[in-house]
Amino acid sequence: MKPLPSTTQLPRWKEKNKDQKKCITTAEGILVTHPTSSITVGQHGPIVLYDSNLNESLAQFNRERLPERVVHAKGSAAFGHFEVTNDITKYTTSKIFELGKKTPIAVRFSRVAGSLGSADTDMDPRGFAIKFYSEEGNWDLVGNNTPIFFIRDPILFPQLIHSQKPNPVTNLREWNQFWDFLSLRQESVHQLMFLFSDRGIPQSYRHMHGYGSHTFSFVDKDQKLTYCKFHYKTDQGIKNLSPAEAQRIAGEDPNYYGRDLYDAIENKNYPSWTLYVQLMTPEQAKTKSYDPFDITKVWPHSEQPLIKVGRLLLNKNPSNYFAEVEQLAFSPSNITPGIWISPDRLLQGRLISYPDAHRYRLGTNYAQLPINCPFKVSNYQRDGASNVINQGGAPNYYPNSFSGPIECPHNYPLPQQIEGKAGHYDTGTTEDDYKQANIFYNKILDAPARGRLEDNLVSTFKKVTNEKVKNNVLQMFSNVDQTFGNNLKEKLRKSLMQEGS
Ligand code: NDP
Repeated sequence: MKPLPSTTQLPRWKEKNKDQKKCITTAEGILVTHPTSSITVGQHGPIVLYDSNLNESLAQFNRERLPERVVHAKGSAAFGHFEVTNDITKYTTSKIFELGKKTPIAVRFSRVAGSLGSADTDMDPRGFAIKFYSEEGNWDLVGNNTPIFFIRDPILFPQLIHSQKPNPVTNLREWNQFWDFLSLRQESVHQLMFLFSDRGIPQSYRHMHGYGSHTFSFVDKDQKLTYCKFHYKTDQGIKNLSPAEAQRIAGEDPNYYGRDLYDAIENKNYPSWTLYVQLMTPEQAKTKSYDPFDITKVWPHSEQPLIKVGRLLLNKNPSNYFAEVEQLAFSPSNITPGIWISPDRLLQGRLISYPDAHRYRLGTNYAQLPINCPFKVSNYQRDGASNVINQGGAPNYYPNSFSGPIECPHNYPLPQQIEGKAGHYDTGTTEDDYKQANIFYNKILDAPARGRLEDNLVSTFKKVTNEKVKNNVLQMFSNVDQTFGNNLKEKLRKSLMQEGS
């Protein structure tokens, strides 16, 4: 059997570079003559302080790691292009959406809560972030494999993630804290049901859909807004793993998804997704019974049908993981002309927190790293650590009389009227939060899928050791559908009986 490409990278590199003869140098390009021995005083004496190559090697080694991303730490990426097949230019002036246009893209898939060393196949939402390297700058669509999310106010984000990360004392994942937080914030129930349903563990990154999740806007040539949502549906078809298969694979190959993606692309089995949009006018948004800017809700297809736009194709693996994946930085704040944000407040929180996270991890000039660097940059930002594009002799203040970059027309939306009183408006649970979750349970899942959802839920919340939390969880799912709640109660009872507790 032919070995998988992921097991032959070094032999292939050797074959390509067999005629190359390079000498070892220090970081400053000075020849290193003895790479395998430090300078010592005699055969058995101590090391001398002036062995600069040794000093440099050890110092560099100590600095090899970046801080782990606080969420989406474990991931894989690939490169390719987005091609527009259907015309939507009446809604947006974005050059990315010109009919027939091909825009280079980077896509990073990830899992949300797991740390860098965690297994790919655990139950967790999956990140699906796309960077479009366009002539108008980088547009980042930083989504997930679910069209919804747990919470809608960004102030809750650190609390949500703390509840899913290890317990601060035991450093172990803890179901008490996971279920406690989520059952006290029941707007999370729709996302929880997606997460514990069959699609919670995709067979691979190639076999899952992606969603921009938030509500965004398109801006047309008259600067008018149309709200939109992005869906990217897998052309490989949806395939999932059962929890038992996923657990087996987690033990055998924790990097299963990364390997699958790499091998598929090296074998020229290029994965693709069809991009669709849903559209809604500002007038329509005012008439909806649900909040169209609430990320815990979808826009029903019967009201806002999917409109096909084009195809995302991945046909190139990273040439170096650290340079092109660890340093790949996405932010929803990277929005190019013709596309815009919306009143979705979780999106607004992410506009602030993502660039801040990159400045912390990668330094203030992270956008200058080749993998993040847009085709052209000209502005008045200067200096800072690791600056490599400091714009030469161009003036560093604006306005100026010395041919510095000038203000150019940009397709922002028309000024918008915003009214209201500034204050804290709690986004706690309302009756509305159970409606779409109920439709998901009763109309989208068939009876066997409902059964599997219940089994998956019980398998984790039976580990909750606090009775109040357990009752809150059961109440939350009963609020979605009484039969659902009763089934969970019964399955929990049986499961605990079997375990003798
Ligand atoms: P539709 O019947 O028009 O569409 C159903 C949607 O559900 C499709 O996008 C379908 O994706 C997806 N789906 C099918 N099976 C599953 C599953 N096992 N897990 C997750 N998603 C699945 O429904 P509506 O638009 O009226 O929405 C009804 C409910 O469907 C919503 O309350 C929501 O829970 C769920 N849903 C809705 C989406 C939306 O954007 N409107 C997106 C995803 C889910 P596929 O293309 O694979 O068939």
